[in-house]
Amino acid sequence: MKVGILGGGQLGRMLLQAAANYVVETYVLENDDQCPAAHLCHHFIKGDIRDFDTVYRFGKQVDALTIEIENVNVDALEKLEAEGVKIYPSPSAIRIIKNKILQKEFYKQHQIPTSPFCITENIDALYGQLHLLPAVHKIGEGGYDGKGVQIILSEQDIPKAFNAPSVLEKKVNIKKEIALIVAMNNTGETAIYPPAEMVFDPILNLLDYQLSPAILPEKILWKAEAIALTVVKKMQSPGLFAVEMFLDEQDEVLVNETAPRVHNSGHHTIEANYSSQYDMLWRVILNYPLGNTGAILPSAIVNLLGAENHSGKAVYEGLSEIMKMENAFVHLYGKEQTKPGRKMGHVTIMSKDYQDLKHKANKIKHTLKVVSA
Ligand code: ADP
Repeated sequence: MKVGILGGGQLGRMLLQAAANYVVETYVLENDDQCPAAHLCHHFIKGDIRDFDTVYRFGKQVDALTIEIENVNVDALEKLEAEGVKIYPSPSAIRIIKNKILQKEFYKQHQIPTSPFCITENIDALYGQLHLLPAVHKIGEGGYDGKGVQIILSEQDIPKAFNAPSVLEKKVNIKKEIALIVAMNNTGETAIYPPAEMVFDPILNLLDYQLSPAILPEKILWKAEAIALTVVKKMQSPGLFAVEMFLDEQDEVLVNETAPRVHNSGHHTIEANYSSQYDMLWRVILNYPLGNTGAILPSAIVNLLGAENHSGKAVYEGLSEIMKMENAFVHLYGKEQTKPGRKMGHVTIMSKDYQDLKHKANKIKHTLKVVSA
């Protein structure tokens, strides 16, 4: 089988590592021929994943396509799907998820719990929605890693809002942020991973570290699982999805957003779960049985982000000290250049003791630094 991946970042790289266990010929489309996935595929094609003709031509060479980022040309995927190329996830699911407005409307339409919201066409429209404040303003298309998100606490903050079609949603009093990964195969069977629990860096607005399985009362876990499964079933698309949720102060579970692809919140599944999210997606695409999502041991992920004030050729300070740690697994994404906040790699730690995980996560954060030469 010939399978193409749109996007060549670290998610594509880890997906290709898992592909090596199976009989599959891999293709990657990405603008940058030095990208993390460029050297792990059978065929690398340089081109823009947002361009109709480029995606269409790329897709005509393969039996199936998947994505590692949502920012792709969905029109081309729809045409390819109509012409018999299997797409994971379906273009209709990507179209909904790619746009935060359509995504929120999808949750509402299917009675999936999410924070109350309205759609705003421009900045002025926010003045008519003061009842939703304090709120979070999210640009419909084009935002990622917190860049399309603006907190609007009061009327005075409105000038900071996006002057483009956006979602204004009530700010949730977050107790915990969790994510659940769900796979669905071509016959509608599902497999769900134990939840992961996120801890965020308030300054960089990027994931700080993550624990899995999340520590949750059983009732909340069941609620979160039921919601994640509903999201994926209503999408009516095979593939692998990460459903990000908030647990609020009242113990309500609210969907924040869904990613229709392998996800940062599932990096730990490479070592810490029997079948990783990457392995699982290949099982779906290649029509193999779904894998075992069970956790082998609790784990933590520490992301390696480019250090502040360092831009240039990447150097990994403290690497050998971390590699001496018991059950620490280092993943470097092969990016030659570092810059502040850039995702350069991650470390997964496994331990049966959560205190030990937190302690080691902290140690890694303070020992391993990505600086420039
Ligand atoms: P992105 O797609 O850029 O990651 P998100 O929608 O996930 O954007 O928002 C980024 C972060 O902003 C979330 O992880 C959460 O911490 C915060 N956030 C988003 N929506 C809300 C909300 N309704 N209430 C409170 N915090 C929110």
